[in-house]
Amino acid sequence: MPHPLYIDIHTHLFSPDPSVWAVRSFHQQEKQEAAHDAGPLSIGLHPWFLEAANLENDWTWLEKESARSEVVAIGETGLDRMQGPDLSFQEEIFLRHIRLAEARNKPLIIHCVRAWEELERVIRQANSPVPMVLHGFQKKEDVLERFLSLGLYFSFGAALLREGSTAQKAFCAAPLNRVFLETDDGTHPIQSIYEKAATLRGMELPELIEQIHFFN
Ligand SMILES: [Zn+2]
Repeated sequence: MPHPLYIDIHTHLFSPDPSVWAVRSFHQQEKQEAAHDAGPLSIGLHPWFLEAANLENDWTWLEKESARSEVVAIGETGLDRMQGPDLSFQEEIFLRHIRLAEARNKPLIIHCVRAWEELERVIRQANSPVPMVLHGFQKKEDVLERFLSLGLYFSFGAALLREGSTAQKAFCAAPLNRVFLETDDGTHPIQSIYEKAATLRGMELPELIEQIHFFN
């Protein structure tokens, strides 16, 4: 198998391209799909689909499935003010994901929409050594700085392709050793996101590829 060049840290789509090491993400409504995926994959209880009535069943699934060696990360998990149950419930489940990631010794992929203060509070409270990646990051530099100081990683997606976007500015301000790239559920291939990212940083593509690594 050829050595993959590109890391797609968060995608919901299947990529047959051997030059891409893609971490496909599955949630609690995709248990069958996750079971049949050869990996690498990430699994978590997505905040959109959290339901108190299903929690016990879903959590049992997550605990068991997350022990598979093909599961390289826990998530996506996190907080969403616009969708899903009330935030206090989301926070409780997010914290449980952090503890599970610690137990499994796997990084965490985080989804956050308009709940940055709550997210910061839970992460501070957890005081966890587990690496955490804020996926689909497109917030301003002050948010970037706050989470950089907490030791977090940032994943940038198709928003990098929009000239003058907040994502472009944040990406240029982020240290490269804290950065990943992703396609999420979009149609832009990871190669074009890498190419744009290299241009934005004034780097050659191979140089950028060389500098983005998954966790050991
Ligand atoms: Zn996603």
